[in-house]
Amino acid sequence: MQNSYLIRHKNCGFFDYTQEYKEAREIIGMPLKRASRGRTKGGKGSTGVVQCTNCGQTVPKDKAKKVTSKLNLVEHTLAKELRAQGAYIASPTVLKHYCISCAIHFKILKIRSADNRRKRGKLR
Ligand SMILES: [Zn+2]
Repeated sequence: MQNSYLIRHKNCGFFDYTQEYKEAREIIGMPLKRASRGRTKGGKGSTGVVQCTNCGQTVPKDKAKKVTSKLNLVEHTLAKELRAQGAYIASPTVLKHYCISCAIHFKILKIRSADNRRKRGKLR
């Protein structure tokens, strides 16, 4: 027997909760600290793991906080001079994965109030 509160997406084939179930859960106030359970997994069963860049902890891929930044190989003033002479200076992008405690430590995330925890969307 299939669970009646689950619905299967036509496009991707993943299971998700029905809209009625989500609304009912809001009213009843089921013991979920966050609407997304702290992850972006949705109805998907499992995801791979990544290691935290800072502490090396194994984190689920959809839970880890991704941060992309540009790496400056040449000093700013020198780069300006070189660029004026027509040189191309490569600045490779670096992808970092952080576990939640490291993300809070580096102020990528902030601890939110109970009402704000329910809000989805960009955090910063
Ligand atoms: Zn960490």
